[in-house]
Amino acid sequence: MTETQARIGIFGGTFNPVHVGHLRAAEEVVGALHLERMIFVPSADPPHKVDIPGDRIAPARLRLKWVQLAIRDNPRFEVDELEVERGGASYSVDTLRTIGERIAPDKPVFTIGQDAFVEIDSWREPEALFDLAHFAVITRTPVALASLSDWLPRCIRNVVEPDQSGVFALHHRAGTWIRLVEIPALDISSSDIRIRLRDGESVRYLLPPAVEEAIEKSGAYRDVEGERRG
Ligand code: ATP
Repeated sequence: MTETQARIGIFGGTFNPVHVGHLRAAEEVVGALHLERMIFVPSADPPHKVDIPGDRIAPARLRLKWVQLAIRDNPRFEVDELEVERGGASYSVDTLRTIGERIAPDKPVFTIGQDAFVEIDSWREPEALFDLAHFAVITRTPVALASLSDWLPRCIRNVVEPDQSGVFALHHRAGTWIRLVEIPALDISSSDIRIRLRDGESVRYLLPPAVEEAIEKSGAYRDVEGERRG
């Protein structure tokens, strides 16, 4: 199994909202791994993120719409609505099974930030994720993931073999690989953008203009102060 055989990337996330950090990361992975396309999969209810008072998760339909707007001029980017359609809690293992069946015998490249990767043992059926997909782990500040071997999730530590480079590991039984993809850091996060929107600060250049406009029109994130008071 070589990296060149994998063609389809999957980029799951809450995208609350999508921002240029996501877009740039996806573009970097497409380039580094020579992918044909990257499929963005916005979640319905993300099991790992809680709706806290004053910081709400925008409705799935809106988050999906914003991703559609964000990627529309990139021929290598696509959006899949399957998690939003399925509704309820979104588990990546279900999504990888569904998309994996569609593209078999190819396996997708699940694209994930370091911050999420280091917590993957707490996801549903974590070991199955590494059977179903290759992994592109993208660098993201402030997590410093120098070598994959220091950070392999517990669930695969005994079955995956990292090579000397520190950026590549093979899962022989599953025929999958994990690759650390170093990207130029863009320290942008959805949570920071939500705070700025709530505080009436500028988010210009952090999001594609069409997304900024759509968020503005939707009123999402704006009324949380009122909610908190009320
Ligand atoms: P929040 O700030 O609300 O936690 P987030 O942007 O971290 O949001 P998601 O929308 O779920 O969360 O992110 C989807 C994926 O994109 C995750 O794997 C995350 O690690 C990655 N990611 C998000 N922002 C960046 C960035 N600026 N650089 C690299 N990866 C990123």
